[in-house]
Amino acid sequence: TKLRVGLLFGGCSGEHEVSISSARAIAKALTTDENANRYELLPVYIQKDGVWKDRKIAQQVLESGKPLFSNDEVQPSDRLPQTINLSEIDLWFPILHGPNGEDGTIQGLLTLMQVPFVGSGVLGSAMGMDKIAMKMAFSQAGLPQVKYKLVMRSQIYSNPCIFPKLCDQLEVELGYPCFVKPANLGSSVGISKVRNRQELETALDNAASYDRRIIVEAGVMARELECAVLGTDQPKASVVGEITFKSDFYDYETKYTEGKADLFIPAKVSNEIANQIQEMAVQAFLAVDAAGLGRVDFFYVEQTGEILINEINTLPGFTSTSMYPQLWAASGVSFDELVHQLIQFALERHSETK
Ligand code: ATP
Ligand code: MG
Ligand code: MG
Ligand code: MG
Repeated sequence: TKLRVGLLFGGCSGEHEVSISSARAIAKALTTDENANRYELLPVYIQKDGVWKDRKIAQQVLESGKPLFSNDEVQPSDRLPQTINLSEIDLWFPILHGPNGEDGTIQGLLTLMQVPFVGSGVLGSAMGMDKIAMKMAFSQAGLPQVKYKLVMRSQIYSNPCIFPKLCDQLEVELGYPCFVKPANLGSSVGISKVRNRQELETALDNAASYDRRIIVEAGVMARELECAVLGTDQPKASVVGEITFKSDFYDYETKYTEGKADLFIPAKVSNEIANQIQEMAVQAFLAVDAAGLGRVDFFYVEQTGEILINEINTLPGFTSTSMYPQLWAASGVSFDELVHQLIQFALERHSETK
């Protein structure tokens, strides 16, 4: 009998549309050739407002590629899978990006159900989404990274006002340009590159609209290299890829507008650099307790030869043109095979943690 795979996509996040694209590609991989003999696809859609929708509607969204919304007022219970026939799903494949999906919340729900699922568990997901927790884990593992400071939203709007002093400190310790980021997001949403005091103030205010916790990082001039990791306790690293673009940084528009960024796989770097990055990618993966899959992003400062880790994404973009599956394709694992392997790793991990 076939394993019934609940492909869980959409989600209450700014990366909802990306999730739909990723799910379309995975759905296709589950229904072609070999995989169709092994797996039955049962899509489940979470609307942007958090409402769960069953197979029929999920299938429509997969076909159209267009998000759906509720017209009625949403009740808390609508944001639970009460309308879904949960017993018909043998394994979950969450492909939700950003908060409420990549951050451990959904993973907690799936853990409660005691059903195997693809990817990291609660801890790995939460550590990978929270840039502060992630950086602490990386630093503990001895991985080099840019200088950074944590800023709380309450420090920005405090009374009496400490904001000017806070900005003074950031300027002295990090300098310009620096990057202001909400701690828990993805796809560059809420991120600004700032070059002066006024931009810093605006960026902090903007980031505070997304998160209570904000991270400010020293900016580096570097090449952007990425490495894909696959597996659980003995994870493997893919070949290294590079992203290039003409825009100021790799922002949302550059990420999702066709033709604005180019991927080079494998990246044109020495074997020594590539090996170092692969090793660091696996260390980073283990440091946050990721499982199944992860894409680890690096800054390579060519002048000094320095490699700095930027972040890990525990549910990276998974469209047919996304970096994660492309890195594996270049490493000898096709998209369809990758989806199959991820499911097998999930089953393995589930039986081991029982
Ligand atoms: P993803 O979509 O990969 O989850 P994200 O929203 O988590 O992205 P980051 O990867 O932290 O965001 O940053 C987005 C981009 O901003 C980077 O790819 C890079 O172009 C730029 N950037 C971020 N931090 C720095 C930095 N300290 N120095 C230079 N560039 C940076
Ligand atoms: Mg990220
Ligand atoms: Mg991300
Ligand atoms: Mg990134």
